[in-house]
Amino acid sequence: MICDNLDEIRTRIQEAAEYCGRDPQEIRLVAVSKRIPAKVVAEAYHCGQVIFGENYLQDAREKIKQLEPSLQWHFIGHLQTNKARMATELFQVIETVDRLKIARALDRYAGELEKTLEVFIQVNVGREQQKYGVLPEETKGLLQDIQSLTNLKVRGLMTMPPYGREPEASRPWFRELKQLAVQLASKGLFEDNDAVELSMGMSGDFTVAIKEGATLVRVGTAIFGPRPN
Ligand SMILES: *Cc1c(COP(=O)(O)O)cnc(C)c1O
Repeated sequence: MICDNLDEIRTRIQEAAEYCGRDPQEIRLVAVSKRIPAKVVAEAYHCGQVIFGENYLQDAREKIKQLEPSLQWHFIGHLQTNKARMATELFQVIETVDRLKIARALDRYAGELEKTLEVFIQVNVGREQQKYGVLPEETKGLLQDIQSLTNLKVRGLMTMPPYGREPEASRPWFRELKQLAVQLASKGLFEDNDAVELSMGMSGDFTVAIKEGATLVRVGTAIFGPRPN
């Protein structure tokens, strides 16, 4: 069941990439496993899925302990400063950096743990009050402030656009994130300005995201089915 779902998603990723002349290898799938039990995550891993995304630190910690060390973990939830140490210990990538304070905390703990942490800047493209993320016009300033934090490697931008009933509704938001990334890359503000990553697209709209330049898509429901509460 999970293997079939993963196969289907990989096929759709490949088709979307080919449709717009992109190399499918450029696009990585993050399986969003929030509220999904460790044994189901293990099943996905045995079907070849390596990268997993988690929103809740405590849950993630329990799960990560039970699973093989070769799984890769991306943190995609809101991160509080007092949890930054735990997040640095558990995750390879933090996709939701949206303020200097959290960036500084992550940098400090990464230094203590002698690791470099890959991060994304979460951008609130839709300017929604209930959502986290830095506003588009404040992203440049945040990136400039982060430059001096040597234990962080800023790979790119991440977004969760306003909810739309149709996948196409997300397209302008994805396009905006891409344009912002191009603009900031021209100023040299990322770790690798020739390969800036864009984490965008979920179960409902990941093919649209790929056509607008996503390099990471974060898919939960379409792999694991509806989440238990
Ligand atoms: C839950 C979640 C997803 C996955 O959503 P689905 O619609 O289940 O694919 C992606 N990104 C973030 C940040 C999430 O919280």
